Formats: sequence, C-alpha cells, structure tokens
Amino acid sequence: MALAAVITVVAGGVELFASRASGSLFLLADAVHLLAHLGIFLVLLIPPGRLHGTSEDLGAVAVLGIIVAVAGWVLWLSVDHLLHPPEELPNPAAMLVALFGLAANTCSALLFRRPAETHFSFRAALAHELSDGGMTLAGLVGAGCISLFGWHWVDPTLSLVIGGWLGVWAVRLLVRRALRGPEVFFEH
Ligand SMILES: [Zn+2]
Repeated sequence: MALAAVITVVAGGVELFASRASGSLFLLADAVHLLAHLGIFLVLLIPPGRLHGTSEDLGAVAVLGIIVAVAGWVLWLSVDHLLHPPEELPNPAAMLVALFGLAANTCSALLFRRPAETHFSFRAALAHELSDGGMTLAGLVGAGCISLFGWHWVDPTLSLVIGGWLGVWAVRLLVRRALRGPEVFFEH
C-alpha cells in the first residue's frame, strides 16, 4: 500500500511539472486524478476493524468534497480551452510523461490484485486503476494525433473526460454515503 502511494505521488508530481512546462491540460487532469486517488484509497482501504469512527467518515466526505471541487475546476479549464483554443499546441512529446501515470496505475493494480480476491473495496480500486490505465492509453494516442494533425481539441477533450470520470466517481461515492451511511466506506 505504502509503495503504491509513493509511486502515485511521484508520478503525479512529475506529470504536474510537465503539464506546466508543456501547457497540456491532459497531463494536469491526469496528475490531479492520480493525487486524488491517494486521498480516496487511503480512506477506502483502511484495514477493517480499525479507525471506523466518526472522524474517518468526516475525513472521507471531506476528501470526496475536495475532489469534486478539483474535478469541477479541471472541467471548467477544459471547456474554456475548447471554446477559446490557446495559440500554442501542447507539446505532444511532454505528454509521454503520462507513461509515469500509467506505471503508477499498473503498480497499484498489481498490488491490489491479491487483496482484491477477498475484499470488495480493493476489487473496486483495482477495476478503477485498470480503467484509468485505459484512459492514459487514449491520451498517448491523442498525443500522437496532436503531433500528426495539430488538432487543438484533443488535449482539452482528454482532460474533460478524465476530469469528468473523477467527478462522477467521487459524486457516486458521496451519493452512496448519503443513502446508506458511513458503512459504504468500510465494506470489505
Ligand atoms: Zn483514477
């Protein structure tokens, strides 16, 4: 678990740095998404029988609330770039940094595989990591399209999808929490 967390932080940091340097919203969205994982997975994957008090419930709700806000910000940036394309295209080569994100997803997925056999929450996390990996692959294809065809809409569309997926995931957890109580965070 700690290893998955460290890999995720490093990959997210590298992507964040590269997104500033290259102007790629896709990298920004992917980095934000990776870092949001940490918050959720730390809360969701706490061993059963420990730390199931009110403060953990509040912490989980707060983390999810922050993630919904950040996802909204990414969505807003994406729509803004789609409506008003910036002069310069993001550097497609920099988007290869998303490979770090893919590595982080893969490592986490491998680490979650064993506990996923018995724990629902790890199974959900594993499925999530795999779909993230698919989205990163789509981003790499997108980087190829940007360098080949110079399409402006590819980068903000990718960040729109990634931000939207993050938002939907967090909102869905919040809705389940509202309907079924704090236990939803600790199902195993
Ligand atoms: Zn994810």
